[in-house]
Amino acid sequence: MQIKQFELNPVFVNTYLLYDETKEAALIDCGASTDEECRRIKEYIDYHGLTLKKLLNTHLHFDHVLGNRFVYETYGVHPQYHESEDSMPSLRIQGSAFGFPIDYEPVHAEHFLQDGEEIRFGNTTLKALLTPGHSPGSLSFYCEKDYCVFTGDALFRHDIGRTDLWGGNEDQLIASIKNQLLTLPEITEIYPGHGPASTVKEEKQHNPYI
Ligand SMILES: [Zn+2]
Repeated sequence: MQIKQFELNPVFVNTYLLYDETKEAALIDCGASTDEECRRIKEYIDYHGLTLKKLLNTHLHFDHVLGNRFVYETYGVHPQYHESEDSMPSLRIQGSAFGFPIDYEPVHAEHFLQDGEEIRFGNTTLKALLTPGHSPGSLSFYCEKDYCVFTGDALFRHDIGRTDLWGGNEDQLIASIKNQLLTLPEITEIYPGHGPASTVKEEKQHNPYI
């Protein structure tokens, strides 16, 4: 599986485009907020001849979903996320809380993901891991074959997600990280929603919150 990372929007969200030898692709947290950012993603997909099959959201904070409408309107793909995330305030309310005006409505899921559910595109399988605490229905996406996990804002390199936003809970977040993420093989690469990558081994040894 190939991983192309884009760092997008004023909050510097990591958007991950995954694809394999079949040229089928999945986007995790499309944060594209301007025409230029949307064009960068589209040009990459076109240049590599990819077919976008899935749009996955780790959670529904505004910075992680800004590109969902572009993806839906360009590729006809609805986002998939955990049902508990639908409790999140509207994009307008979230945006105004952060001084970031948002003038469009979100695209809703046609399918809610469950803990442990397998997501397939091409020859690749991701497993949804429920890792709540930063938000009520945060998911991480684990690729067992390639030893990598996309953790959204649950776990960062040497840091964890904030828990003071809607539905956040620090005890729950620590439990999610310990039970769902640090139990993965130590060589597993961690690709977070912001900042640089890490590994399970690195976080076990050096994350001050765990
Ligand atoms: Zn977040």
